[in-house]
Amino acid sequence: MDKIVALCKRRGIIFPASEIYGGIANTYDYGHYGVLLKNNIAGAWWKAMIQERDDIVALDSAIIQHPRTWEASGHLAGFTDPLVDCRACKRRFRADHLEEVRNGTAEHPDLRCGRAPSKLPGEHADCDLTEAREFNLMFETSIGPVKDAGSTVYLRPETAQGIFLAFKTTLGFARKKPPFGIAQIGKSFRNEITPGNFIFRTLEFEQMEMEFFVPPSEAEHWHQHWMEQRMAWYVSLGIDPEKLRLRPHGEDELSHYSSATSDIEYLYPIGWSELEGIANRGDFDLTQHAKYSGQKLEYVDTASGDRYVPHVIEPAAGLGRTVLTLLCDAYDEDEIGGEQRTVLRLKPAMAPIKVAVLPLVNKEGQPERAREIYEELRELMPAEYDTGGSIGKRYRRQDEIGTPWGVTVDHQTMDDGTVTLRDRDTLEQERIPASELGDELQRRLAAPWTSPKLVRR
Ligand code: ATP
Repeated sequence: MDKIVALCKRRGIIFPASEIYGGIANTYDYGHYGVLLKNNIAGAWWKAMIQERDDIVALDSAIIQHPRTWEASGHLAGFTDPLVDCRACKRRFRADHLEEVRNGTAEHPDLRCGRAPSKLPGEHADCDLTEAREFNLMFETSIGPVKDAGSTVYLRPETAQGIFLAFKTTLGFARKKPPFGIAQIGKSFRNEITPGNFIFRTLEFEQMEMEFFVPPSEAEHWHQHWMEQRMAWYVSLGIDPEKLRLRPHGEDELSHYSSATSDIEYLYPIGWSELEGIANRGDFDLTQHAKYSGQKLEYVDTASGDRYVPHVIEPAAGLGRTVLTLLCDAYDEDEIGGEQRTVLRLKPAMAPIKVAVLPLVNKEGQPERAREIYEELRELMPAEYDTGGSIGKRYRRQDEIGTPWGVTVDHQTMDDGTVTLRDRDTLEQERIPASELGDELQRRLAAPWTSPKLVRR
């Protein structure tokens, strides 16, 4: 993980926020390449949810909702973590995580005694643990100039509730009937005070959530459907299938709203951990909001006269956590000509930049020709033009941000119009006419792709 954190900082992919003030715990900024990578993941999610299906519509709901929302959803009373402090080593951890490790239902590799890293908190003679205290994770703020009880509102801790609040309105105009879904990507906020492990757990993070409303009798079928779809989606991003697994929650792990949840987990450098939760939320949310708002939140079939409260299947993923997953999965090191190279073996479709155009030398008209080629290519895909430093250095820079192809303009280009096209993974260099670059790169971008890390294994 340290190597990934260092690479992200070195290349401005992701770095600590408020750094000039010494940073702020569990809070990060995404730089240029980080934004592009994140957008590619979000784009792939929208494509799978909206473009490739016709039973889901999009939503972008407010971050600050009516405070009653969180009473109805159970977050005000129950969205808490049980926290324990060790008075001896000053570490803080979650009592539920300790319990899970003890009974073997989940792994939390970062949960260690501060005195003896091979032991769990509480196992060393010096350990001095407090009782668990319930700590609410919602951030409070207030509306208006006077801060009183009536002005308190909350930054949403999940995007899902905004979807339930918009269910009735959406049903009115979307011309859909169950089974149908509402999808959104947006920021959520949680006052996380245990160690974050880089961007794995942050105070603010983007969620990609979809609530799929179904007739109650079909809930199990759709739960199964979404577990399969979501696993396949991660594999389609190029992630190693052997580092992905589906883990059903035990009875004692289930949230207050859920009758069944399975987590998609990835084998991060910190161990197997949650990437996405896929829950069967039953009719809990719509029933609660109907009760608290006094509105009917149900589906009425005008033809048959049937009315029911749909059940909800929810695939809830973290966008930042998916970024981290791709970074961990793609990170690789090898050697070129005796020199060590760091390379992100991202699937080309996910790479922030697809092609870098580099003049071999900064003279003889090469920079001008390279810039022309770059300006043509950037109409087709994200491209970069780079003249700074030796050609080897420029390739290294592109390898580190996962750019799959490099185009070099050299003296031969000026004679016969051909360029060299270099492949990040095979390191093969092919000479092709510059006029064919666009077609060739688009063909490669659309071609099936297997990570060289898998081929090697
Ligand atoms: P965890 O057990 O890791 O705290 P959770 O079960 O509370 O997560 P959910 O409420 O199911 O998480 O949220 C859905 C997804 O949102 C998670 O699978 C994860 O990808 C992402 N997520 C949740 N909390 C955070 C966070 N603090 N930072 C980054 N991503 C998060």
